Amino acid sequence: MTTLRNLPSIDQLLNAAEDLIQEYGRPLTVDSLRRTVDEARARLKLNLEAGTPSITILLAQAESTLRAWTQPTLQPVINATGVILHTNLGRAPLSKATIEAMISASMNYSNLEFDLETGKRGSRLLHAEALLKKITGAEAAIVVNNNASAVLLALSALANKKRVVISRSQLVEIGGGFRIPDVMKQSGAKLVEIGTTNKTRLSDYQSALQAPASRPVNGLVMRAHRSNFKIIGFTAEPELEEIINAAHQAGVPFMDDLGSGALYDTAKYGFAHEPTVQESLQAGADIVCFSGDKLLGGPQAGIIVGKAELIAKIKKHPLARAVRADKICLAGLTATLLHYLKDEAEREIPIVRMMSMSLEQVKVKAEAWARELDQGSVIASQSTVGGGSLPDESIPTFALALRVKSPDKFLKKLRQASLPIIARTEHDQILLDPRTVLPEQENIFLNTLREVLHDYR
Ligand SMILES: *Cc1c(COP(=O)(O)O)cnc(C)c1O
Repeated sequence: MTTLRNLPSIDQLLNAAEDLIQEYGRPLTVDSLRRTVDEARARLKLNLEAGTPSITILLAQAESTLRAWTQPTLQPVINATGVILHTNLGRAPLSKATIEAMISASMNYSNLEFDLETGKRGSRLLHAEALLKKITGAEAAIVVNNNASAVLLALSALANKKRVVISRSQLVEIGGGFRIPDVMKQSGAKLVEIGTTNKTRLSDYQSALQAPASRPVNGLVMRAHRSNFKIIGFTAEPELEEIINAAHQAGVPFMDDLGSGALYDTAKYGFAHEPTVQESLQAGADIVCFSGDKLLGGPQAGIIVGKAELIAKIKKHPLARAVRADKICLAGLTATLLHYLKDEAEREIPIVRMMSMSLEQVKVKAEAWARELDQGSVIASQSTVGGGSLPDESIPTFALALRVKSPDKFLKKLRQASLPIIARTEHDQILLDPRTVLPEQENIFLNTLREVLHDYR
C-alpha cells in the first residue's frame, strides 16, 4: 500500500506539466492527468506494476492520452487507387485558385449578402449564378449544399402534391440511402412510375401525361441519370428530346437529375460519354440538377440551372434556406467555374487533369517510381472514374505492382503511415496507380513506400 500512497498528486504532476498545459490547455491536461493517475492506481492495486511509476512516466502516459484525444479524425490520405472520384476518399481535390478563394472567404468579411454599389442588402445567390449562366447557357441558377438537396428542393418547390412521371428504370438508389422514390415522397410529390425496368417507350410517357386532368395534376416529367449502374441487354428508352417534347406537349416541365453533370465531353479522354449539362439544356430540359464535386471537380455543392421562372420558384421555397450553400462553397465553386470559362480546366482542375493524363504519361510516371524505389514492375491495368460517374467504365492505365508476402498486411501498413496511402491489390500484388497521386504528395508517397518496404516485405 505504500506504493499507492507514493503516487504523485495531481498538483505535483501539474507543476511538471508546463509543456502539456501550453500545448493542450489546462483543463484537458488536468483531465488526462487524473485519468493517468487513476489507471496507475488501478494497476498497482492489481499488482500489475512492480513499483510506483515516476512523474516522467506518468507525464508521458498523459501526453499520449492527450494526443489521442486531440488528433483530428478527418485527415488527408494519398489516393493511389486510380479511382479519380473516390466517394469514400472525399471525391474531388480542388484547384489552387479554388483553395485560395475558399481561404480568402474564410479569413475575411465579404460582400456575401451586401451590394457594394448601393450599400444595401444583397443576395448570396448571385455569386455563382452569372458564371453558371454563361457556361451552361441557362437562364438562371441556384447553388445549394449538395445535389441530393438540390433534387429534394426542386421536387418540393415544383411538384409538391403533383404527379412526377418517371421511368421505372430510373428509380435508383444513389448511395447512402438516397433513393429517388423516397426523396419524392419526402418532397410531397406523387410518384408515377411508367414502363418497365428494362424498357420504357415514348407512348408510356404520353399516356401517363394524358391521364385524366383530375387531381393531382402533372407537376414534372423527371429523368434520373443512372450514375452508378448500367442496364444492358434487351433495353429501350426514348431519346431525351422525345421525352422532353412529350412533356412540353402536355404543358409539363422536364427536370433532369444528371448527378455528376459534366461540363465537358468525357469521351475526348477515352471514357464513355457522360451526359453534359449543356446537352440537357439544349435538348430543352427546364431544370437540370448536378453535383459540384463530381466530374465538375469543385467543392461539395448542388447546382440547379434552368428556366428563370422555375428557378425563381425554387429560390422562394422555404427549403432553399435550409439547404443553402455557405460562403466558402460559393467562393470555391466560383473559382472552379472560372477555370471552365477561361478554358483552363485541364490544366488547373485536378480531376480533369487526371482524366486527361495520357496512357504514356501514366506509364512514364509508374516507371519512374519503379526506378526510384528499385522495386516492383510496371503493369497494365484498368482505372475507373467512380463517385457516381461513368458506371462500369474503365480506361487502361499503368500501375506499379509490388509483390509482398502478405498483401493485406502491407496495405494495412500503408494505411497506418502518418500520411496514409490507400492502394489496391490485384492477383496478390499491390497496385499503385500514378493517375490519382497528387504531384505535391509524390515525395512523401515514395518515402513512405520506401520505409514500409524496408520494414515489411
Ligand atoms: C451523386 C448523385 C446525387 C447526389 O449528389 P450529391 O452531390 O452526392 O448529394 C443525386 N442524383 C444522382 C443521379 C447522382 O448521381
